[in-house]
Amino acid sequence: MEFLNEELKNLEEKGLYRKFKTLLSSQGVEVKIGDEIFINFCSNDYLGLANHPYVKLTMINAIEKYGVGSGASRLICGNMREQERLEEKLAKFKGEESCLVFPTGYMANLGVISTLLDAEDVVIIDRLNHASIIDGCKLSKAKIMVYSHVDMNSLEDVLKKVKNFRRRLIVTDSVFSMDGDIAPLPDIMKLARKYHAMVMVDDAHATGVLGKNGRGIVEYYNMKDKPDIIMGTLSKAIGSLGGFICGSKSLIEYLKNKCRSFIYTTGIPPSLCASSIASLEIIEKNPEIIRKLWDNTYYLKEKLNNLNLNTLSSNTPIIPIVLGDEKKTIEVANKIQERKILLIGIRPPTVPKGTSRLRITLTSNHTKIHIEELIKAIEEIIT
Ligand SMILES: *Cc1c(COP(=O)(O)O)cnc(C)c1O
Repeated sequence: MEFLNEELKNLEEKGLYRKFKTLLSSQGVEVKIGDEIFINFCSNDYLGLANHPYVKLTMINAIEKYGVGSGASRLICGNMREQERLEEKLAKFKGEESCLVFPTGYMANLGVISTLLDAEDVVIIDRLNHASIIDGCKLSKAKIMVYSHVDMNSLEDVLKKVKNFRRRLIVTDSVFSMDGDIAPLPDIMKLARKYHAMVMVDDAHATGVLGKNGRGIVEYYNMKDKPDIIMGTLSKAIGSLGGFICGSKSLIEYLKNKCRSFIYTTGIPPSLCASSIASLEIIEKNPEIIRKLWDNTYYLKEKLNNLNLNTLSSNTPIIPIVLGDEKKTIEVANKIQERKILLIGIRPPTVPKGTSRLRITLTSNHTKIHIEELIKAIEEIIT
């Protein structure tokens, strides 16, 4: 197995070696690494719910009542009332008929795409879709067609070429996880209707973030004609872990019967369901935490615009600063980390070659002081 070390050395030389950082504290805007406290700008815990007192208490109470594990696949004897309560809550939150929860968002994407499509079908994806979508496409055996990022002419060109396939499915991220821009979903829907394609959105970074009540991209655009499949995750703004699919009752029944990444895995622990329900309750009762997140976003965006940095078309709490070269990106990230600000470099294959970047994510718990520290570091180190 000498190839392992050779390949690792190769990664190191290219500036692509990946290493863990170890947090000694809970997730939050200030985290402890080693003996130092860092201001954290990398977390997807947009609303600070991963460490919220009510969410924690709800989870602890659920553990007291239900224990820690569900013990089996949902279809054997691991289907517990808390999982169903969460699914009912999510369907309502998303304004959909039905919902199915998976252990992770990755498994939801992998499962739903590979269950709905086969070798006779085509899946049409934005070039910058998340890796879990791409892996779902590969597993499905469907033909994969890629359109240029958020480019509706490119999407239409693809749709014209795939009329002879049995089923057509367009899949897009709502908020693109590395660029921070929002998919033009109403335009995608129009094209999908014209060319008889199904539409699936990945609301991972939109749930709890987009729309006045955090319901996601459908609320953001106030859409009447909704996508056929809405996927989301509980691991970002909801603060815990788990993925979900929302849609029609028949879609959900079909997945329960056919979806391998749902059937052949253990049901998610009831305590995680309880904590996710608690997070959703907080979002429903206090939508002002979403406003706080967006206030922070606008505040930082304006300051960054004044510095003339390449932040692509970001218009969400995900803000990239594109530097291009892999090694330079890591160098800059290291210098920023020396100031006890946690910001990491994102490199290929997560982003296309030559577009390595710092990726900032803001949360509702960041203060203006935290953000000012970040701006100062960026100004002095990058510009
Ligand atoms: C994080 C993410 C996922 C995966 O969700 P997990 O619950 O973390 O597995 C899927 N899609 C997108 C766009 C994501 O950002």
